[in-house]
Amino acid sequence: MTPRVTVVGSLNMDLVARAPRMPEPGETIIGGDFRNVPGGKGANQAVAAARLGASVSMVGRVGRDAFGGPLLEALDADGIDHAHVIQDPRAATGVALIVVDDAGQNSIVVASGANMRFSPCDVDAAEDVIAGADALLLQLESPLETVTRAAAVAQDHGVLVILNPAPARDLPETLLSTVDVLIPNESETALLAGQPVDGLSQAEDAAVVLLQLGVGTVILTLGERGALLAQTAGAERVPAFAVDPVDTTAAGDAFVGGFAVALAEGRRMAEAVRWGNAAGALATTKMGAQPSLPSRRAVERLLD
Ligand code: ADP
Repeated sequence: MTPRVTVVGSLNMDLVARAPRMPEPGETIIGGDFRNVPGGKGANQAVAAARLGASVSMVGRVGRDAFGGPLLEALDADGIDHAHVIQDPRAATGVALIVVDDAGQNSIVVASGANMRFSPCDVDAAEDVIAGADALLLQLESPLETVTRAAAVAQDHGVLVILNPAPARDLPETLLSTVDVLIPNESETALLAGQPVDGLSQAEDAAVVLLQLGVGTVILTLGERGALLAQTAGAERVPAFAVDPVDTTAAGDAFVGGFAVALAEGRRMAEAVRWGNAAGALATTKMGAQPSLPSRRAVERLLD
């Protein structure tokens, strides 16, 4: 059976310019190449899951402007249902203004636009695609009340709720109590747990703190060290796959997509983390966000 994944979250157009260096405040400099790349953590995770073979529905908001249409076309290209992505005539499509310098550093301003008008009512209107999913994926680039409503609707229907708490912020207990699997990276873990996460033993300590917040399963993604799977019964590190990374953008989104698809297919938790590690590793081997998200064949080859 094809696993069904629904994503409630953000869609952005990434406007990416290269520059020899970052401009100083008040300064204008001449840059290099420029590209529009579909992005947003929600849409990235939807594409990640779709490329791994899931039947995916996206729920969110874009503007009725020059970027909204192309973002929906990008979803079409991966066969993602977007019947519940509203085209809002009164808001701009979310954009991320990204400057990448010659040292590979980036600086980013996200203008969330329509994503911030994505409401709990929009979620209620999409109840059918949430109820019909095997797993619901959530991130924090949408209003917290919208994320919270989506988690509650999923819980009502017995749908597995996976929250990637990015970008990091404090979370209310009402949301945490409805989350089945929390997937933070190291900096998000440090903020949520209120303690530093430097090295594996600190990661394990922080995972215990997060479990005490009432989430059944916590998976800390640890970059090139893989991931730590923590449940009340104990913690287990699942090592990363060795690759030559060129750009780690969207590695976390690939991880979440890979993990969700594997779990929705009925795989055990630790095996699903391996799928996440494989998808995350492959995403680091190509430039960009959505263009770097791997196919199912590539992931299966790496897992073998
Ligand atoms: P984020 O991109 O959200 O900060 P991480 O850096 O933890 O998240 O990366 C997410 C996952 O991607 C990791 O758990 C790992 O599986 C994979 N990954 C990231 N960087 C590497 C790397 N250098 N080598 C292999 N796998 C990686």
